[in-house]
Amino acid sequence: MYSREIEALLQKKGIVPGDTVRVVSNRKSFEGVLLPRPEFGDQDALVIKLKNGYNIGLELKRGSKIERLQREKESFAFPRVKLEKKEGLPDVAIVSTGGTIESKVDYVTGAVHMLVEPEEMLAQVPEILDVANFKVVSPMRIASEDMTYKNWQEIARAVAKALSDSHGVMVTHGTDTMHYTAAALSFMLEGVNGPVVLTGAQRSVDRGSSDAFMNLLCSAHMAAKGNVAEVGICMHANASDSYCNFMRGTKVRKLHTTRRDAFRSVNGRPIARVDTHGNIEYMDESRKRRSEGGRMRVVPGYEPRVALLKFYPNSDPEIIDFYIDRGYKGIIIEGTGMGHVAVAPTDGKLSWLGHIKRAVESGMVVGMTSQCLNGRVNANVYRNLRLISGTGAVYCEDMLPEVALVKLGWLLGNHKRTEAANLLAKNIAGEITERTEIDWD
Ligand code: GLU
Repeated sequence: MYSREIEALLQKKGIVPGDTVRVVSNRKSFEGVLLPRPEFGDQDALVIKLKNGYNIGLELKRGSKIERLQREKESFAFPRVKLEKKEGLPDVAIVSTGGTIESKVDYVTGAVHMLVEPEEMLAQVPEILDVANFKVVSPMRIASEDMTYKNWQEIARAVAKALSDSHGVMVTHGTDTMHYTAAALSFMLEGVNGPVVLTGAQRSVDRGSSDAFMNLLCSAHMAAKGNVAEVGICMHANASDSYCNFMRGTKVRKLHTTRRDAFRSVNGRPIARVDTHGNIEYMDESRKRRSEGGRMRVVPGYEPRVALLKFYPNSDPEIIDFYIDRGYKGIIIEGTGMGHVAVAPTDGKLSWLGHIKRAVESGMVVGMTSQCLNGRVNANVYRNLRLISGTGAVYCEDMLPEVALVKLGWLLGNHKRTEAANLLAKNIAGEITERTEIDWD
């Protein structure tokens, strides 16, 4: 709160934080967005965000004036497009779910908040309307860290429905957990028969350096004419704006907090690279789109009582007992190297071996992956590894830990325990490759 005098003045003039105002102070005039008083700031100084982005504090003394130029709501209004059918363009559906790509900065709090309609997002990239005829459905508008398996099921159903009368589907999504959703869709959309292209933005559309425009445009091209029947993530391939990569949904991970090229294929090549003009270069073998559609089925079952545990030096294996006692059905462990956990530490209480054994004997499926991410786990190299696999833990080849988690939840939601354990280390949706080829350049 500002001082009582300032609050009274603002109230009299009907001005609220977020309004664009003109303030005359010390005979100088300033225009900008009125911000709420910072928690520990001077109560007697108004804080204004100037057009150049800087915040200044202005004292309201005798002779000072304040007037409103624009209401808060108006300053947040974004243009939106009207979606009209154009002859000869392919049909693409957009399943909009939220995230930064559907947000802009709220200058009141400095936080990012959701756009009102997905059509506002398309208005930022007018060229996109020459790529395809779009229809938009929005089953949810949330930050991706708030997603649960129920959202994955809802998105899978929306994508399947949309794919029945479109060449391809785009899914706009928050980037933080986009690779989990990509994995979930890869398993839930059995026999997917066209391109399902997840995309997002690391920087919101109102920033000069936003990646939203290029990601949307490249993804639209991929969904409109990509000759693939795959779920993948399409995002900036490098620091420049030259092209995007379309990466297999089970072989991709967010590997940087802020860079626009944060998503990388791990243990596999991107399926294709695509630029903003619609040039698509296929780089890896992929399932091809079937023009007759093919039989696609949504297999949405999911067992949420699965956990992902990270082993680290000195970690307490009793965490496994916690999950056993809570009735969990499966655990994926992120081990070290080729799939190790402590088996003979000096302090015997820190050995994970007995706890893993107990989990398997109690009916849980336990899967072993590596926190190295690149490369594969292999239970046959060291004696310690053999001891761990001897408990019945399944070594998950070159599967990413998050993908193994999502796969295990999906397997246990649709199959009996023994079958789920068998299928965990078998390739279903491109998540396991026979030989891992890694580019280390
Ligand atoms: N944490 C938010 C999310 O994942 C914003 C990040 C983003 O979209 O880039 O939805």
